[in-house]
Amino acid sequence: MSIPLVDLKAQYLTIKDEIDAAIAEIVTNTSFIGGKPVSDFEAAFAAFCEVKCAVGVASGTAALHLALCATDVKPGDEVLTVSQTFIATAEVAPLCGASVRMIDIDPQTYCMDPAALEAAISEKTRAIIPVHLYGHPADMDPIMRIAASRGITVIEDAAQSHGARYRGRRVGSIAPIATFSFYPGKNLGAYGDAGAVTLQDEETAQRVTMLSNHGRWQKYKHLVEGFNYRLDALQAAVLSVKLKYLNEWSEKRRRVAARYDELLADVEEVTRPHVADYAEPVYHLYVIQVPPERREAITEYLREHGVMAQLHYPIPLHLQPAYEHLGMKPGALPVTESLAARCISMPVFPELRPEQIETVAQTLKDALAAG
Ligand SMILES: *Cc1c(COP(=O)(O)O)cnc(C)c1O
Repeated sequence: MSIPLVDLKAQYLTIKDEIDAAIAEIVTNTSFIGGKPVSDFEAAFAAFCEVKCAVGVASGTAALHLALCATDVKPGDEVLTVSQTFIATAEVAPLCGASVRMIDIDPQTYCMDPAALEAAISEKTRAIIPVHLYGHPADMDPIMRIAASRGITVIEDAAQSHGARYRGRRVGSIAPIATFSFYPGKNLGAYGDAGAVTLQDEETAQRVTMLSNHGRWQKYKHLVEGFNYRLDALQAAVLSVKLKYLNEWSEKRRRVAARYDELLADVEEVTRPHVADYAEPVYHLYVIQVPPERREAITEYLREHGVMAQLHYPIPLHLQPAYEHLGMKPGALPVTESLAARCISMPVFPELRPEQIETVAQTLKDALAAG
């Protein structure tokens, strides 16, 4: 029996009755867009994130685009972010006519390096998007300080870190605006595409809601041109059921990680995920580093022996064809490139059983011994 990276079926089976009932209710009411299921989820997710407002939207990518719009990012502006992330973080800047600039990460947390940020800021910088990568928060205090001293807005990309804490505070509650993805494989996943924007002030939240719904202010009145970026009621209903279990699931993910840490403690060739002293992570992924010349063979061995390890991300954004126009060459972001060459994502999900965790760790040890 192979061990998947994430097992959505196993999770569904633990909450099947509740999910099925929630879906049946929406279908029976045939009220598919907006309404109470969406506003109920928004209120519950805002409470969970310890923020004033949450706006449910169509995807994490839509959330990022709306966050930039709400920040008034315009043509000629520059958006600073990391290269070690999913392309969505970067690809929204041009939708506002802005350019994107990618900077390096911290070698321990794999999140935005505040020193690199300080060095990269220019007159054109309008927004900074740190990513809470793999479930571990970025070092927000210095990032917020650097931004505040220059009047630049920070947008947290929390797509991989629902419920993680930075110095006791939930991610998504630190910057004035933050974005989440509920892509099925994320820590809180819908049964399709979905996302959210969290905010500290109601006025901006209303603006995001309006933009997500064709710039509609009241019935028949459109204040501006907007988008069709609404969260649909079926996804909201599924998310409301799953949100109740999220703290418990995060705790289980941390237990899986702690067990991996124990089992791999004496394996010299493996660098385990670091937890900064400011962080309570939620292990969206358990990413290890191995020697780069052996990464392909190790990954192949794992997969051949039923451990469905994957790579997040083997080619950083600045070296993707899509970003050739940035003119960044290999060597431009050394920490990012080093991680990209060494990373392997091991299976981690709340339902992973103790014997499966042992199998994964043992298979990794066997892969290393297989030389
Ligand atoms: C998944 C993800 C996104 C995009 O979310 P979608 O819901 O797939 O649009 C954005 N940023 C990061 C870091 C992600 O992992």
